[in-house]
Amino acid sequence: MAPRDCIVVINAGSSSIKFSLYDGAALDLAMRGKIENLYAGVTRFVAQDAAGAVIDEHRWPDGPIDHATGMRFLIDFAQSHLDGRRVVAVGHRIVHGGVDYSGPQLLTEAVLARLDQLVPLAPLHLPHNLAPVRSMLAMAPQVPQVGCFDTAFHTSQPAAAQAFALPPRITDLGIRRYGFHGLSYEYISSRLPQSDPQLAGARVVAAHLGNGASMCAMLAGRSVASTMGFTAVDGLPMGTRCGALDPGVVLYLIDELGMDVAAVQKLLYQESGLLGVSGLSSDMRTLEQSGDPRAKAAIALMVYRIGRELGSLAAALGGLDALVFSGGIGENSKALRAAVCRDAAWLGVRLDTAANDSRADGIRRISTPDSSVAVWIVPANEELMIARHTLDILEH
Ligand code: AMP
Repeated sequence: MAPRDCIVVINAGSSSIKFSLYDGAALDLAMRGKIENLYAGVTRFVAQDAAGAVIDEHRWPDGPIDHATGMRFLIDFAQSHLDGRRVVAVGHRIVHGGVDYSGPQLLTEAVLARLDQLVPLAPLHLPHNLAPVRSMLAMAPQVPQVGCFDTAFHTSQPAAAQAFALPPRITDLGIRRYGFHGLSYEYISSRLPQSDPQLAGARVVAAHLGNGASMCAMLAGRSVASTMGFTAVDGLPMGTRCGALDPGVVLYLIDELGMDVAAVQKLLYQESGLLGVSGLSSDMRTLEQSGDPRAKAAIALMVYRIGRELGSLAAALGGLDALVFSGGIGENSKALRAAVCRDAAWLGVRLDTAANDSRADGIRRISTPDSSVAVWIVPANEELMIARHTLDILEH
């Protein structure tokens, strides 16, 4: 990497495209931006420099745009703001790597064809992840495109953690637990020992709590269990997703209520979780500010499920040395962290209330010195993890 070389990271979700630009081998963040509200509402774009100062903004008042239009806008924006830099590779967040991909991968047409076959495993996300790769390959075929998979970090889990109790004829079709948010957990596992070297070999449960939410048990930095399974709807209640559900409920919805697959999918992915229980909002900030008992019930259910999963993941680890909060809710909601830690007192968790209430930024410990479980906040940084993987692929 020459000093003016840079790596671009693209994280394309169902309604947004985020990008980040990293300079040189040190991967210094130069700028980041996002287009939000694709397909619905007012699509808007904002770009910020490394210090968070806004360098450009744009809105589409005539109606929402789609991914392809968004990508074209981003490429034009990037080209006019490269300022003499050379893009040497683009790293992409890809939600699913199936059983084939247990690490980052140079994306060729052959790999993309293989990933196309995985679309039924993640129909709401994977097509949006792959579309920008194809746009970039068409527009700049000389620039390597690297795929980083949310499932890859979990391939280290023991067989029992990956298996459903189903017959081999079903399991052999790839119907098993994959786990997601792997890039976030991989970043946490790399970052935590830098702040406390004693945690390098530790038993850690990390909670990535954002619009999507999951938890992961890590032993010496490797995933041993996670709350998300075959799809990203399992585990914790989320903004609009229900989390773990008795499969008998799905049978009942179809058989007794006459719902078809599309209606069940909409209910479980878009109308449940914090939004469904509260009937108000999927946004934790709105619920915390509301006096409505349904908002309190939705938050209480999330806290309860986090506590139950924490016990289960601590059992998978044979004990617990550290608990980590990450994601928009985990990093910002002191009330949720306090409630989770109160319920986890039986594990030896003691929260330092002043540290928890502090407005400090960045990675920090929020448990008391005598807490037998160290509690940390680690701000999520999946993009940096993708940039590191992309650089690795480029150099090897
Ligand atoms: P993410 O998907 O990681 O961007 O997280 C989005 C979630 O974080 C939403 O539920 C937000 O309401 C929540 N969030 C962001 N800031 C805060 C805050 N200051 N307090 C509580 N929740 C927050």
